[in-house]
Amino acid sequence: MMTFESLKLSAQLLLNIEEQGYKEPYPVQLEVIPDVLEGKDIIGIAKTGSGKTASYVLPILQRLEKAKTKNRFANVLVLVPTRELAVQVQEVFYLFSKELAYPAKSMAVFGGVAINPQMKRMSNVNILVATPGRLLELTRSNAVNLSKVSTFVMDEADKLLNLGFQKELDDILKLLPKKRQNLLFSATLSPEVKNIEKILLNKEDFATKESQAIVKETEEIEEDILINQTGYFVSQEKKGPLLRHLIKEKEMKQVLVFTSSIFQADQLTAKLRKNGIDARAIHSKKSQGSRQESLTLFKNNKINVLVATDLLARGIDIQFLPFVVNYELPRSPKDFIHRIGRTGRAENPGEAITLVTEEDKHHFRVIQKKMKQWVTMVDSENLNF
Ligand code: AMP
Repeated sequence: MMTFESLKLSAQLLLNIEEQGYKEPYPVQLEVIPDVLEGKDIIGIAKTGSGKTASYVLPILQRLEKAKTKNRFANVLVLVPTRELAVQVQEVFYLFSKELAYPAKSMAVFGGVAINPQMKRMSNVNILVATPGRLLELTRSNAVNLSKVSTFVMDEADKLLNLGFQKELDDILKLLPKKRQNLLFSATLSPEVKNIEKILLNKEDFATKESQAIVKETEEIEEDILINQTGYFVSQEKKGPLLRHLIKEKEMKQVLVFTSSIFQADQLTAKLRKNGIDARAIHSKKSQGSRQESLTLFKNNKINVLVATDLLARGIDIQFLPFVVNYELPRSPKDFIHRIGRTGRAENPGEAITLVTEEDKHHFRVIQKKMKQWVTMVDSENLNF
């Protein structure tokens, strides 16, 4: 058995790992940690749920021991596509930074909330986890300087690129020093990701480094084993009653329900609440405060149902989430896979339920084909509800 000890992590980090209850490294951690420790550039093809966050957080924290720190000059920059992911990644840095003998102050910055408190808290931060827009605002007001960044991480690079952050990304890259370590993580190696890989690694300064960039294909978590999938044929009008029936029947205490639109998310939430089910909606029209609050309540089992748009389909790690329901199908099969990937993570089995109307049938077949998996279908007409 490979152990964290064999990865040459420092004693304090090993203690912090033990405290988290991690028994042994996940495959992505075995692959990535040694190279990051050596200062190499990495392209990690790893999904959320694989343990990729710790795979860069741990070696980065160890390397920080040797970093020169200076107020307002970040040593490490982690770029992420969403606010929630920023908070989540910073939490992992925080957990593993405990009791370290050297400064490892991390902070998450993202838009949608006031900028002033973030500027004030910026002093002596050496690990910055940021969404692109807010990061640029902060650099423009000189709250942070990126010219001393020694390690640059792009987490969920595919999402960053899909969301049209290219312009921001270009601006950010200009602010980084040429000599730095680049760590790129993505669920897929899409053409956009390959392109950014070139930008990051093929610049003149990196010509020698190019051969060192190692693509790490990690074992995928076997979704078909961990995620038990069922589909229900149902009419549009009966979706609400069916969902309520399933929540009761399966005694769902924690279920993430996906809708395709903000409107539908709000409407469904209202309906559930009217029927005495503790639900909250989370989507891009909600304030950042409300989004964070709902997510925390849900994570801590204080509410049973979280209704979300695809904003949440990626990146969010809810430990032991037992149920995901697709109330409506997403347009893209990729989003479907990301949605159901919220459950059955990190070796805990989960159940993914998809409601399929007559009009959805064709599209659902397309999705299943892409997934290379056929889902057992139940006709809800035969159910008593
Ligand atoms: P991530 O892919 O980074 O979002 O991690 C998914 C989940 O796996 C998180 O809840 C981590 O705390 C957990 N995790 C990561 N590495 C390990 C490990 N080696 N052993 C047990 N759990 C882990």
